[in-house]
Amino acid sequence: MSKYITTPIYYVNGEAHIGHAYTTFIADTMARYEKLKGEDTYFLTGTDEHGQKIEESAQKSGKPTQEFADEISAGFKNLWDEFEINYDKFIRTTDEDHKKGVQKAFEAMHNKGDIYKDFYEGHYCVSCETFFTEMQLVDGEFCPDCGRGTNIIKEESYFFRLSKYEDALLKHYSDNPDFIMPRSRANEVINFVKGGLRDLSVTRTSFTWGVGMPESIKDDKHVMYVWLDALLNYITALGYGTTEENMRYWPASVQFVGKDILRFHAIYWPAFLMSLDLPLPKHIGAHGWWTRDGEKMSKSKGNVVSPREVANAYGVENLRYFMLREVPFGQDGDFSQRAFIDRINSELSNDLGNLLNRIIGMSGKYSDFEIDSKDVLKYHKRELDAMNLVLDSLDSYMENLQTHRYLEELWKLFSIANKSIEEHAPWVKMKENKKNEALATVALVANILAKASIMLFPVMPKTTNTIADALNFKIDNASYRELVIEKKLLKLFNIKVVPPLFPRVEEPLMAEAPLAQPNIDSAKESQDSLKEQDNLIEIGQFFETSLKVGVVVEAKEVPKSKKLLKLQVDLGEDKPRQVVAGIREFYTPESLINTQVCVVANLKPAKLMGMISEGMLLAAKDEDGLCLVRPEKPKKAGTPIG
Ligand SMILES: [Zn+2]
Repeated sequence: MSKYITTPIYYVNGEAHIGHAYTTFIADTMARYEKLKGEDTYFLTGTDEHGQKIEESAQKSGKPTQEFADEISAGFKNLWDEFEINYDKFIRTTDEDHKKGVQKAFEAMHNKGDIYKDFYEGHYCVSCETFFTEMQLVDGEFCPDCGRGTNIIKEESYFFRLSKYEDALLKHYSDNPDFIMPRSRANEVINFVKGGLRDLSVTRTSFTWGVGMPESIKDDKHVMYVWLDALLNYITALGYGTTEENMRYWPASVQFVGKDILRFHAIYWPAFLMSLDLPLPKHIGAHGWWTRDGEKMSKSKGNVVSPREVANAYGVENLRYFMLREVPFGQDGDFSQRAFIDRINSELSNDLGNLLNRIIGMSGKYSDFEIDSKDVLKYHKRELDAMNLVLDSLDSYMENLQTHRYLEELWKLFSIANKSIEEHAPWVKMKENKKNEALATVALVANILAKASIMLFPVMPKTTNTIADALNFKIDNASYRELVIEKKLLKLFNIKVVPPLFPRVEEPLMAEAPLAQPNIDSAKESQDSLKEQDNLIEIGQFFETSLKVGVVVEAKEVPKSKKLLKLQVDLGEDKPRQVVAGIREFYTPESLINTQVCVVANLKPAKLMGMISEGMLLAAKDEDGLCLVRPEKPKKAGTPIG
């Protein structure tokens, strides 16, 4: 069975932001996953280029509309190419064959009696290119979606009989409970349809930047409504109405959309398809939005994260991992450098990266880099069984778009591997002259790494290829079948020495959002200092840090944050300082009241989840958890530490 995966086509009214990158990463990951499994898979992305808004933006920029659209579309395409997004086609709605396909579809709907001509009078939001009813407007005049003013427009228009499909849509939702994913989003769509569907105006006469009418209809003053034109891209990309050459991929397996455009994809789009007598996509996957440090991103706040900037600082694969691991699909996610760095250091560097370094080191010492799986089953059946259980569980998470759970489960493999090294201590076995046992443990870990790399490949293709190269195999459908499905072990090989895959990140590598972290200027230097082993400091440098004893006078949980507590800490000043600390997993708010802490008192204020933090608590963290550093005996609030 073939698979077809799509992103929305991105509107060429602005540059790609982190939300676009997320949609594209998740779709790319799904497509790579299906291809790895050997499915005949087609992955589509592209740009949406028509409509009044584009026409106006082009005018403002003083450029011909097509030139304006070309530039922004190229911006998206170049970014995805830089990120090595493995799409099969990048469609543009200004492509000639797309326009022909749209006209063909319009004609088919018209011939079926699903399109008729009438007048439309309504409140129109230019920005959203949508008509609203009086009832839907905010304060009788403002757009309910974007808040801008609306205009009353009366114009001749062609209408699509959306109302005709009300019952068929409701039946489809109830017969196919996974049509909308996550399921929690389905209710809003169902209620909207139950509220009654009005026929949809699908042409405009007020502007010209759009797909014209089919010749058979001879009505040149109309152009197509941007949503009709845009949604049809998912089939015109396969050759609908022209070559038909890839129509075997239809219906789509998953169509990814942002939650803001779910209504268009879960109501209009299936109705159009029903009218065209085409099957409906299997799943519409609606994802959430991204905030930055807990705040909505906006140009005016100056806190928009550019995906290119993040990728340049941290690497695009780390960004893919972070975004897919951080958020349950469908929920909103928060981009914070601190959370990102935590995941790089603990999950990528510690759990995964170190594992590879350890077996390179051990096999170098014990067996001249040769790794032989011959005794793995003999000494490690328990670990192999545990590993296979994890491997078998993964597919359903990915097919249900639960990438965060997929990665969480996948990471259990690294725990199994790390634990087996601790338990079996190959260095002890070597001293006891049990070389076969020592080498079996090293080989076990190599096998776990190999299988985990295959399953991690869709998320981090380049990194896992490096691991596979070190382990002397290639990640492809053949190795997927052998090592993951048939559970075979690696053949005798010599491991290659590779440099550490995930250097630890000690400080933020990008400027923080306005009003945020210090260390901005030192980010570059810190990268350099990473390379120095013994960076000793002068005593004066130490005393530049003001450390003080503080008393916690108030502690509260931060809503929506699993990690943060908001504290008021008395440092003997006029009023307590607010300190936002990542200690919620280790301390309850009540247990902190009236206890003493050590505070870095001269940090520039930082903003976490939208709250100012005016200091940092000293704490120690190891694999057993975190504990605060406190004075041995109570000291007055504000007592300097040095
Ligand atoms: Zn609007």
